Amino acid sequence: KFKFTDLKSIPGKIELAKQFYRSRQARLAQSKSPRATDINERIRSLQKLYWAVKDNEERLIAAASKDFHRARSETLTIELVPLYNNILYLIKNMKKEIEPKKIKVSLLAHWFGTTFVEKIALGTVLVISPFNFPILLALDPLAGAIAGGNSVVFKPSELTPACAEVMEEICNEAFEKGQVETVQGGAEETSALVESGKFDKIFYTGSTTVGTIIAEKAAKSLTPCVLELGGKSPVFISPNLPKSQWETAIRRIYYSSMGNAGQICVAADYVLCPDSIYDEFVDSCKKVLNEFYPSVTSDTEYTHMIHERAYNRIQTVIETTKGQKTVAQHSDNLPPLCIPPTIISDVSWDDPSMTGENFGPILPIMRYTDLDETIDTLIKRFDTPLVQYIFTNSKDEIDHILTRIRSGACVVNDTLLHVGIEEAPFGGIGTSGYGNYHGPYTFKTFTHERTIFKQPFWVDLLIYVRYPPFDKLNTRI
Ligand code: NAD
Repeated sequence: KFKFTDLKSIPGKIELAKQFYRSRQARLAQSKSPRATDINERIRSLQKLYWAVKDNEERLIAAASKDFHRARSETLTIELVPLYNNILYLIKNMKKEIEPKKIKVSLLAHWFGTTFVEKIALGTVLVISPFNFPILLALDPLAGAIAGGNSVVFKPSELTPACAEVMEEICNEAFEKGQVETVQGGAEETSALVESGKFDKIFYTGSTTVGTIIAEKAAKSLTPCVLELGGKSPVFISPNLPKSQWETAIRRIYYSSMGNAGQICVAADYVLCPDSIYDEFVDSCKKVLNEFYPSVTSDTEYTHMIHERAYNRIQTVIETTKGQKTVAQHSDNLPPLCIPPTIISDVSWDDPSMTGENFGPILPIMRYTDLDETIDTLIKRFDTPLVQYIFTNSKDEIDHILTRIRSGACVVNDTLLHVGIEEAPFGGIGTSGYGNYHGPYTFKTFTHERTIFKQPFWVDLLIYVRYPPFDKLNTRI
């Protein structure tokens, strides 16, 4: 039933969105107070989006379950709750963020004028989203683009068609024609959008491989991009972490490495555990695995792999690893795309589980003796992860690791929760992407900061020196 957008209709959809932006600006220019009207309209649009999502909450939960057996509590807690929070932040802070800010200036030439910086809409923005958080990573940047005063062309993931359909309906319900135009499809449709060269910004979330393709195509029309990409995010366990804190640490690690069946960009991808505590720590990992997943069956609220290719990729890693596997207890007749959570101990850097982003419910646990040697290898292989996780109570250990390893973010003694900090920037570095968003950073990402300088005429009395002829300066000053 899910239909891709006809390729031939894509230029028309882009033009509708561009026309919406242009005619809205023309209408605002006619109004008595364009800025106040603009802010009120943006807030109203975000309120409509908020309520359209709320009204369709149960449908979205059902859609995510249909798409990849996504657990209800996961859709609620890791997608909808942060989405509501983010939209409310944008509404609450709109006026403060969009009001022009008066700037203090230092040069005499500007002393008697006034300098403002205002955030203006970019125009028309393309939002491309991935499958793994099909709702949040689609509607959150879309809300940001609306908050910035832009019109949007929105391309949800084709791998979660049920969510994509509900979101298209939500957009049609909340927005005017042209304000948000949805294009359904995969690589071909996305390429047609990017290659059109008609966008003022592309906000892309997805794999590093595809992100590179998008950035290359976008460069041809000088279209700026934000790339929110993937990576292999490490977990450091300190040799000094008290035993009493191990199980809490492991629960927090599993939260991102097994949640959503490990299909999380900021998943704890692998654990680096000191040799001095290794065996006992792995025993605790096995205990918590049992506690979390006493029995995985077809009825368990547990997310499945998105498709056969992803399933086969993880199965191959599990089959070819040289490490010791501990698989969560499960029934024999699991559904086709279900992989029970698996920890893999005693792996080396060359193990199949350590060659790239896992993006599945497996957790390699590696032994280390010398922290700096381990960091050297990590930097050579997976420099610039999206996040690094450090479990320790020592500030010196944190400082040491953070000074050596660059990353999009760092979380100490927990995982994943930083994504929900609306007030802090979320984004990668190097191969995990560039640009960021959330809260105030969303307003920056989806606007252009324009300087406005107003100069009084009499100031030439003071700064006449700027004019030629320069060889007569002495007589003029
Ligand atoms: P993907 O790169 O395969 O797809 C993302 C989007 O790109 C989809 O809308 C898809 O239709 C489109 N696309 C796919 N192939 C394309 C091509 N050849 N040309 C043009 N467009 C194409 O990513 P995915 O599998 O949906 O998501 C998983 C990846 O995304 C993981 O690597 C994960 O780490 C990353 N991710 C990053 C973040 C972040 O915020 N940094 C968040 C979620 C996921």
